Formats: sequence, structure tokens, C-alpha cells
Amino acid sequence: MAELSLSGTTKTFNDGGDEILAVDDIDLEINDGEFLVLVGPSGCGKSTTLRMIAGLETPSGGDIALDGKPIQDKRPQERDIAMVFQSYALYPHMTVRENMSFGLEESTELSDQEVNEMVEDAAETLGIPELLDRKPGALSGGQQQRVALGRAIVRNPEVFLLDEPLSNLDAKLRAEMRTELQQLQSELGVTTVYVTHDQTEAMTMSDRIAILNDGELQQLGTPMECYHEPSNLFVAGFLGEPSMNFFHLDLEGETLVSDSFEYDLPPEIASTVKGHDEIVLGVRPESVEISDDVETDGKQGEIPAIVDVVEPHGNENAVHLRFENGTAPDLTVMIDGMRYLTAEQEVSVRFPEDSIHLFDAESGVALHNRKLTNVDGVEEYSDSRDFSE
Ligand code: ATP
Repeated sequence: MAELSLSGTTKTFNDGGDEILAVDDIDLEINDGEFLVLVGPSGCGKSTTLRMIAGLETPSGGDIALDGKPIQDKRPQERDIAMVFQSYALYPHMTVRENMSFGLEESTELSDQEVNEMVEDAAETLGIPELLDRKPGALSGGQQQRVALGRAIVRNPEVFLLDEPLSNLDAKLRAEMRTELQQLQSELGVTTVYVTHDQTEAMTMSDRIAILNDGELQQLGTPMECYHEPSNLFVAGFLGEPSMNFFHLDLEGETLVSDSFEYDLPPEIASTVKGHDEIVLGVRPESVEISDDVETDGKQGEIPAIVDVVEPHGNENAVHLRFENGTAPDLTVMIDGMRYLTAEQEVSVRFPEDSIHLFDAESGVALHNRKLTNVDGVEEYSDSRDFSE
């Protein structure tokens, strides 16, 4: 059992007299065996959070507990937590075997033979037994990454902390390692906190995602929840590639109004935004319907637009459009890869009511999201893992 919890965890740095609030009052409960990804833009406080869990930074406030017992006053070696760094931090003069056994020999009473067996088992798990007698300089980036992981695995810790472990690998290897790491974590069942700025890693690898911005936790949820039910504009814009389309509109009665188009809200959605004057309408690129038929009335759903650029992605195409009669920002729509549209073609677009998101323009808070229960396959997804038991 290893449940990790952060409550009110805060970190301020003093930089030449200036106070930097790197992590601001974060609460997180990470379940036994869970794969939690901490994600956010550069400087949002991900690494500082991880380093506080590891004991490499001292929190300025709040608690960190493992299985209910506070650990923030323990030294890193006493925490039963293994960390893998972005730089791998391997000793260049030691062989892979020595690198992997180093921490064990330092911190346990095991015999040489027992240490050796543990190293060889971990090397086997990671598919690198033939590399054990090489030095890091004679290994590829991917192999060094495996050794760094192996060094963490042999310690058989209660918690793994991984700080951007795939960021030095090329795109193809990164994609392969994502799957491998996920399988490995699930086999080992070790509670894991994984830091990345890459929203694809967060979406594809995690049981749950914790999204940070400016040191503050924005949302904690499954990838599907965070993607389809974002708590605010930041989360909505951060997750998804291409990003969600946003339009600033005024609310007049039950109609959203801009220079480019008007959008009549159905009464049940209008009631969720009542009292808010300025609204941001969000719609994901894959949710927008696009038609060659340009006969539109400029109202509900049927909005005339002009194709700017088509970016083929193979399986699908990204279409960038502009509205012909207004100042609204451009719109990106994903269409099937077999469908062909050309630059300057006139089309009409529609934002289906069941896929729109509405945010308060001032605070950014989500007022209305599409419902997760309306998303295809969600039943199958939500049965996949249950941490509540
Ligand atoms: P990145 O993805 O770029 O690694 P991050 O989300 O991991 O970023 P942190 O490294 O945790 O962000 O930094 C959070 C904030 O704290 C940043 O503003 C950073 O400049 C500041 N910071 C981090 N370490 C220190 C330090 N030792 N002294 C002063 N400020 C620091």
C-alpha cells in the first residue's frame, strides 16, 4: 500500500529578495498503484512539486504524507521513493550494472549476490540484460533511459517519481516508450507521479491527470473528464491538439452575439449562463460540422466561412477557416483524411449544441460543458479502473 497525499503543499523561493510562489496550496490524493501525471506549461511548478515529494526541496507550508504518515521532515533516503530524472543522472565511469546497483549497495544490507540478482531481474524486465557491462557513454538515449528506470526499479520503492523521462528521446521512440512505461507501471503496481509538459503523454499514459498553471492546481481527473469536462478555459485550451476553438461573445437574452455570428442557446443551456454578460464559447476542432453548402442564414449553427489553409495529417485533415463578415478569431476544424477542401472555398460550419462548452469570460470558469456521458465509449472507459475501493 502506498497512498501519497499532498495537503496545502506550498513552496516559495526567494530570488534576490523577490518571492516566487512556485507551488500554491496544492491538495492531491494519489491512490495506491495509481499513475498520476502532473502536467502544465513550463514554470508552472511541476518539478518543484515532484522534488518536494522526493525530499529534494523543503515545502514552505502544508503536508506530504505516505499512507497517512507525514514524510516532509524525512531525508530523501528515508522516504522509500525512487526518482528518475530527465537527464537520467547516470554515473559515466560506472557500468550499467554498477549504476543500477549503486543505490542498493549504499542503502541496504543485501549480499552482493542478492543485489546482482535484483539488478539482473530488473534488466530482464526492461529488456537490457546484454547492456549490463557497458558504460553509459556507449548507450543510446533510449537505452540510458531504461537504465535510469532500472535503477529506480531495483530499489522496489513505494513510489516512483518520473520527471520528464521521455523528453530527450526522438518522437518515435518516445511513443514506444510511452506504451512500455505504462505496461511496466501497471505490472509493478507502484504508485507513480509522472511530470511532463506534453499533454499527449498526460492523456495517453495516466490514470488521472493533475493540471497545474502558475503553481495552482487547475483540475484533477481522468483524461476523459479533463478533456470533455474541463473546469476552466486554461484546461480546455491546454488539453487537445489542435486546441479547442474559443469565441468571445455577449449574452443577450438566450442568444450569444458577436460581429461574426449569433448562436441561440437551447433553454436548458441558457439557464446555466444566466447572469453572465460575457461568455467564451468553446468547441473542439473535431466537433465542428462543416458543409459545402453555403446557403446559410448566419444564425443557429449555419455560419458562413472561408477555407484559409488545409493541413493534411494523413488520417485526418486540419482545416483553418475564417469568418467572412467579422473579427472573430480563426476556426480550426478536423475533417476525415479522405475529404478534400481547397483554400478560398466557401463553406458553412455548425457547432452542434451537444458539444459546445461555455465559460465565463472574466473568470474563465466553465459554466457548461458537453456531458461525458454523451461521449461514445465512455461506459467502457469508466469501468476500466476504479480506485474508490
Ligand atoms: P519546466 O517544465 O520548465 O521544468 P516546471 O513546471 O517544472 O517547469 P518548476 O521548475 O517547478 O516549473 O518552477 C516553478 C517556478 O519556480 C518557476 O517560476 C521557477 O523559475 C521557480 N523556481 C524553481 N526553482 C527555483 C529556485 N531554486 N530558485 C528560485 N526560483 C525557482
